Amino acid sequence: MKIERGIFIHYKELVKPISLRQYDAAIARLVHYPEKREEMIIERGKLAAGYRGQLAFDYYLRLIQNESCYVLHNIRLRLNDAFFQMDTLLLTNRFLLIIEVKNVIGDLIFDFEFQQLIKDRESTREIYNCPIQQVMNQHQKLQHWLRLNKMVNIPIYSIVVLTNPKCFIKEVKGDRNFIKSKLMRSSRFNIFFVGLTNSVSNEVLMDRETNQLAKRFVQYHTPQILNIYERHDISQQTISHGVICHDCQYFFTLYSPNSTCPTCSRPQKSLIHQNVSDYSLLVSPTFTNVEIRNFLNVPSRYTMKRLLKSSPQVKYSSSTYHHPLHD
Ligand SMILES: [Zn+2]
Repeated sequence: MKIERGIFIHYKELVKPISLRQYDAAIARLVHYPEKREEMIIERGKLAAGYRGQLAFDYYLRLIQNESCYVLHNIRLRLNDAFFQMDTLLLTNRFLLIIEVKNVIGDLIFDFEFQQLIKDRESTREIYNCPIQQVMNQHQKLQHWLRLNKMVNIPIYSIVVLTNPKCFIKEVKGDRNFIKSKLMRSSRFNIFFVGLTNSVSNEVLMDRETNQLAKRFVQYHTPQILNIYERHDISQQTISHGVICHDCQYFFTLYSPNSTCPTCSRPQKSLIHQNVSDYSLLVSPTFTNVEIRNFLNVPSRYTMKRLLKSSPQVKYSSSTYHHPLHD
């Protein structure tokens, strides 16, 4: 987390979302249930496409030049009993900008009248929620959230950015000018941002306050952890136990803290880190030595202890290990 006066500050970095990491861990360990595995691979594909879109759009965010601007990725906030998530939130001392990033390929029909996005590709039609409506909902929720938390009254803007050059906008249904003001390809974003900055002349916040607001968002952020079992109607027992090498998908018994993968010789450090991370993603981020040993089938308590000690991500307190999940 970098805090300094500058032209561009990546305040909350873009990292691989926890949900995507959960799917990676589950798919690798769902070896005896091919149908469920297939179902998960499809779900994972959708999440991965979204993440790839965000990575691609990050290039344009890094071109922002005109003023101190904080960039926060994947901020998820609680509002009453529910949560709302914003793909990208930009903070300047004049306004906030919510950006919904869409990475879709195909012929698109934006039907704002009936709040749907229709995607035709290779003779199949898929219907999604209208992203313009989605970002407008986020806009409203953010306004409400700022008010409830007694934070500054600052103008909010919201847009949808299409990141995939292979999407073709075939038709828009609804107020064409309004849709055009809300929807753009990533290549237009920087011109739009300069225009928006010039049109909002009033500086609502001092630099220190913008920084404080960015800090508050990160403080209030709650990462999304999926209940993958409920979602796919499987029990936790379907997940294969043991130490797995995520490079070659080989399961094996780890007898010594210095062991490497018997087939591809992957080094022990990254191996154990990923397996502890699997437990954290699929079972619980808090565990005892015996719990994680049962999951990873590590026979020796001392081997496990040494491995956990060598992993910088694992913290130990009151006889319990913690491997917190961040995104
Ligand atoms: Zn291996």
